[in-house]
Amino acid sequence: MTEEILRVENISKRFGGVIALDKVSLSINKGETCCLVGENGSGKSTIIKIVSGVYTPDEGDIYINGRHYKKLSPIESIQEGIQVIYQDFSLFPNLTVAENIALNQQLAAGKHLVSWKEMYRVAEEGLAKINISLPLDAIVNTLSTADRQLIAITKALLANASTIIMDEPTTALTQKEVSSLFKIIAEIKSRGISTLFVSHKLNEVTEIADRTIIFRNGQVVMDQASKGLNVHDMEFSMTGRRLDPGAIQFNTVDKSATALLRVEKLSLERGFFDISFDLMPQEILGITGLLGSGRTELAHAIFGELPAHSGKIFVEGKEVHMRGIQDAVENGIAYVPDDRVREGLFLDHTITNNVVAGVIDRLTSKFNFLNPTLIQAEGKNWIKTLDIKTPSGDLPVKSLSGGNQQRVVLAKWLASKPKILILNGPTVGVDVGSKAEIHELIRTLAHQGLGILLISDDIPELMSTCHRILLMRNGRIVEEFKREELTENLLNIKLVGAESR
Ligand code: ADP
Ligand code: MG
Repeated sequence: MTEEILRVENISKRFGGVIALDKVSLSINKGETCCLVGENGSGKSTIIKIVSGVYTPDEGDIYINGRHYKKLSPIESIQEGIQVIYQDFSLFPNLTVAENIALNQQLAAGKHLVSWKEMYRVAEEGLAKINISLPLDAIVNTLSTADRQLIAITKALLANASTIIMDEPTTALTQKEVSSLFKIIAEIKSRGISTLFVSHKLNEVTEIADRTIIFRNGQVVMDQASKGLNVHDMEFSMTGRRLDPGAIQFNTVDKSATALLRVEKLSLERGFFDISFDLMPQEILGITGLLGSGRTELAHAIFGELPAHSGKIFVEGKEVHMRGIQDAVENGIAYVPDDRVREGLFLDHTITNNVVAGVIDRLTSKFNFLNPTLIQAEGKNWIKTLDIKTPSGDLPVKSLSGGNQQRVVLAKWLASKPKILILNGPTVGVDVGSKAEIHELIRTLAHQGLGILLISDDIPELMSTCHRILLMRNGRIVEEFKREELTENLLNIKLVGAESR
């Protein structure tokens, strides 16, 4: 018999003029694993905060364990067995594993004198519930993200959770850590505890969730068993757009032209070996491989950041020596890194200032005065060209969604009018709708004459943009594919097959 733990009915929530939730109804059964998906801003965090008593709904009803609430306080939510694990895990970074796990529980039990022995026993018992062991006296901020997450889960279990809610738990995890998290979620389920987790990665969802709930613009647009759900249908529900890979127009590449970029027997110690390829004008060349395959080092070498030890690089037929980034920039090469937050953007600065950061000398008038009119015009131009969704270029970059931040990085590099564009993981952390738009943009740029090196391990991304794909493994190119002769499935096998070596 299915037993309902939690149900919300017709919940609405507004923030000023924004309708974050619009008559949302959903329920979770005992022991069920539910996944909540939706694009950025679709209301996922808001419903979590309503269920955990952080926000008061404007209208609607909440039922937990059969009890009716018009709103919840955080304490009521916890007493009803709801435990939320936020992305920052809310741990005490300077306390030990044992203290983090057991302190709350000791305090809740009304103990004024904390017994260390007791604390270790509680922590150990807690960890045993999910079959893991961690060093109890390790300081929490020395542990990996995955371990800190385990501590948060253990804490939630010890608080007698009947439902554990996790907001985007897999975002910062490696593939292997994701698999072990899934094992733990299965363990939690076997104890009759329900899980609701938010995810962006659609393939993950079908793997782990019993049921999938999709939000779009604050409404529930799908709620059904995950079994048999396919990724394309989910994408359609999330975005309201059919992303049809068959309908993509690829421009043809003139193979008799002079290569924009030629790389000959390029090697970098402990990075990559004997790499040779040509990149033609209007071509999108994919470079794929797992983390550690040498793909990022290769990009850094071509961009002069990590000069190669041997081999040659030619730009439009002329040999160039990449000793530093300046050499690359002077030769019309731009590089958009995979970590846009760390390497690409100043988040607190305005969108316009970020866009013009690389071309400031061109926008400077005589005597080195910055010309504000030119700067504003350049900013406006790129916001329009790349369709950056913002009311004003004067807002800080951090006010934008991931997809729009990525456009600012692109704008910044395109402003320098490059001939060759190297993109490293251009849509990592970007939601499906923006992803499709960025792919469209990449194809348009190639069509306009740029040569693009696209480094990625996102298979649908490679398939929907690249003319050719080079597969790297252990620092070498091991295979080359033309897109026409490739399927997503085959590329997946080739890529993951490399993992077992
Ligand atoms: P998600 O978690 O799906 O990305 P959210 O629930 O965070 O989406 O946000 C839904 C909408 O509500 C967004 O448009 C967001 O900007 C808005 N919103 C969320 N929280 C607040 C808040 N505290 N103040 C104003 N607007 C908010
Ligand atoms: Mg959110």
